[in-house]
Amino acid sequence: MYILDEEKYINQLLDTYKKPDDLSVLYLITLISKYYINKYDNINNLVDKVKKEISLFNISGYQEYFYASKIYNICSEMFVGNTKKEFKKLEYIPIYSSDLEIINTLPSDKYKKLMFTLIANARYMDSSGWINKKTSDGIREIFKQANISGGDDLRDSMLHDLYKNGYISFARANMNQNIKINHFEHNEDVVYKVTDFNHLGNQYLGNFKKGYMMCKNCWKIIRCTGNKKMYCKKCAEDMIREKTRERVRLFREK
Ligand SMILES: [Zn+2]
Repeated sequence: MYILDEEKYINQLLDTYKKPDDLSVLYLITLISKYYINKYDNINNLVDKVKKEISLFNISGYQEYFYASKIYNICSEMFVGNTKKEFKKLEYIPIYSSDLEIINTLPSDKYKKLMFTLIANARYMDSSGWINKKTSDGIREIFKQANISGGDDLRDSMLHDLYKNGYISFARANMNQNIKINHFEHNEDVVYKVTDFNHLGNQYLGNFKKGYMMCKNCWKIIRCTGNKKMYCKKCAEDMIREKTRERVRLFREK
């Protein structure tokens, strides 16, 4: 779950008390804690308030005893200043020309898409180049964002190649769930603004691979053909069909 403006996001959730499916309970607890942290000067009152708010979401299968210690830990870490209590408030994740220079040293589109996606993730995490994923599902998510299909073997071997060639490091050998981008410094020349973490691989190709672009509707990568095309063949045809249908409807209503 990638939220650029956490404050806006939690404000909307606290209006409706509906948890989106892709938001984890722990992230929801964190956001609610951030929302109330400055309104309480006693940790226990804060914890009680967070528990009460969570219960209003009526999350199926949620049991307070299971989360009680987690809620306490999240609140107290924030309380003593070990974790950030400020909301993440970003308009976009910047990609710099210096990032592209590094990406361009890679041998194929596949590796370039992966590196672009890793850099965007590391900037989002804002933790000196680290991307901490707790499980292999987290790694799978990154490859999905990068539009790279294939199994665990492919994922492992691609990450290992980046590691071997000095692009990334791991927290511990063979622990590829904690990845660090090795050259995380950057210049000030923003060449792309990431606002959506879906299809990052295609976003990269569509914007930086000569002769290619991304369909504005379905994110598919298409070849540029001189004339100003914005949509892939299928989306363009669907739109024409939709327009025809609309014309027929308006004609009948007359
Ligand atoms: Zn399309």
